[in-house]
Amino acid sequence: MAALRSSTVGVLGLGPLGLHLARTLASLGAHRLVLDDAASVAHDDVGIGGYRLGDVGRPRPVSAARVLADALLTSTAVSPGVLDGHDPGTLAAAVIVTHERIDPACTWRLVAQGVPHLVVTWGNGWLEVGPGVAPGRTACLRCVDLHRADDHVPPARGRHVGNGVEDPVLAVAGAGLAAARTLALLAPGPSTRGLARTTVLTLPDLTPTVEYWPVHPACGCA
Ligand SMILES: [Zn+2]
Repeated sequence: MAALRSSTVGVLGLGPLGLHLARTLASLGAHRLVLDDAASVAHDDVGIGGYRLGDVGRPRPVSAARVLADALLTSTAVSPGVLDGHDPGTLAAAVIVTHERIDPACTWRLVAQGVPHLVVTWGNGWLEVGPGVAPGRTACLRCVDLHRADDHVPPARGRHVGNGVEDPVLAVAGAGLAAARTLALLAPGPSTRGLARTTVLTLPDLTPTVEYWPVHPACGCA
């Protein structure tokens, strides 16, 4: 947490889960949060302690900054999507919350600039937290893609796997797990094995399925 208190963390994707995560990081005393999303607040985003009805139609980052305004230790910066105007290299870590299988090309800039990042992916009735990528030390998204190709899993880059709606139970559980992994990204221990995992939580009982992803020898990221 000491690392968090001196760090700037990007939260890209500010649906209910991303907002829960930002609130949790602010509660832990995050120094600065870059709030990034190109979307506006929808009716499904409204929730207790989060977005209000009056936020519907407003840019998510602006309304998220309003929610975080009482966090005394945390300053916020608003970004209108894909870190427009913000150099990823200034981030100590980035968390990407998405409803599609991200194309590894989209995170290559983070890999190239050495920015640790965590991917959280929504599906229908499930949520995948991870992998956490410590560039040069753990598997990147391309490594995961290559492993899946080795297992004859067809690539799903850019394809929507969620329906855009964030289940409240998965959002809370996923935000807690993502906060823990963010702390691990900021101050990795001697073993990065815990980071290089995907944890899938499935409704209704959230029994986790965990998979470990080593660096793929053909990727070259390490
Ligand atoms: Zn890789």
